[in-house]
Amino acid sequence: MTLELMWSKDNAVKAAYRRQKTGRKWNPEEVINQAISRLKHRDIVGAVQRGRTGLGWGERTQRWERATQTERKQLVVEEVKRMEEEGRKVCAVSQKQQGAWVNWEDCLDRKLTWNDVWKIPDCRLSFLIRAVYDVLPCPRNLSRWYSREEACQLCGTPKANLKHTLSACTTSLQQGRFTWRHNKALRVLAAALEVRRRKAGSREETQKQTFIPFVKEGQSATQGVRRSCEGLMRKGEWEMAVDLDKRLVFPRNICETTLRPDIVLWSSVQKTVLVIELTIPWEENIQAAYERKKLKYQELVQQCAENGWRSLLYPVEVGCRGFVGTSLTRLCRDLSIGQKQLVKQMAEEVERCSFWLWLRRKDCHWKTKE
Ligand SMILES: [Zn+2]
Repeated sequence: MTLELMWSKDNAVKAAYRRQKTGRKWNPEEVINQAISRLKHRDIVGAVQRGRTGLGWGERTQRWERATQTERKQLVVEEVKRMEEEGRKVCAVSQKQQGAWVNWEDCLDRKLTWNDVWKIPDCRLSFLIRAVYDVLPCPRNLSRWYSREEACQLCGTPKANLKHTLSACTTSLQQGRFTWRHNKALRVLAAALEVRRRKAGSREETQKQTFIPFVKEGQSATQGVRRSCEGLMRKGEWEMAVDLDKRLVFPRNICETTLRPDIVLWSSVQKTVLVIELTIPWEENIQAAYERKKLKYQELVQQCAENGWRSLLYPVEVGCRGFVGTSLTRLCRDLSIGQKQLVKQMAEEVERCSFWLWLRRKDCHWKTKE
């Protein structure tokens, strides 16, 4: 509103603009000017990358210099929202426990729409919110709130925190609780890849590759060139093995190894093999998990390359509380899979399983059918 009045071309309207009274804390004029100077500053800095998505994958930003009047208004509104969000984060940083989520690097933001909030059962929504802010009644919090000694009911670790219950308890690990959750999520990922694999050989996909990248007048040839990984699955005849139900054996014709990644996808025609490894770590450890898995399969990838196969490694992480790591973006883009839907599915599956693990935290018996 203030913007409409301030920037009006009509002098009469402009004159009607008067400083609005919005209390002492918040002055629209000041905030708008601040937003504009930030936008101008961003023009100088240019696009900035977040996480490990790689150069050129970041969000495309509209430049202030080139924006029209209407676009500028939109930019200012967005910038003000961003400033408010930053203020919230700054506040969260100062809170050691409730604000731990600010340290989640390499996580995709999770969007809960009103529709989701309606659909999701109350108990799960409550779990999700309390898990993020670490205010669930885990042994450590109970000890802190009521100053009495509480321990993990499964392994007896005193003052065990939520991280322990959801990702570090040795008894849970031995009983196969974490494996159960991992396999549940893997099933979702494998299903999406299987759909993609089947589509790969279809006629519409093979026709797509006959597309010739014409260069428009005045455009340089490099602008039309895609990344070499993109459209990997255009050419058909892909095979897939998943480490579920039965033990995965890495295809012998590619390489002899005892390693068992979660998913192997290969095409003998293209002599290309994709190694996919899924991990469900604690959100703060997503980056570490990525590095660890990358290192673990480094040698396998090299061996494949020595045998004349082009090999690509994709470590994928989904945090225990349903926050998907940015590494999934790369997989989705390279295989042309709809990212939004897969991220949502994976996030919900992991979060649902974690909720179940939380509910069963005091129950020593563990038996589930997959
Ligand atoms: Zn335990």
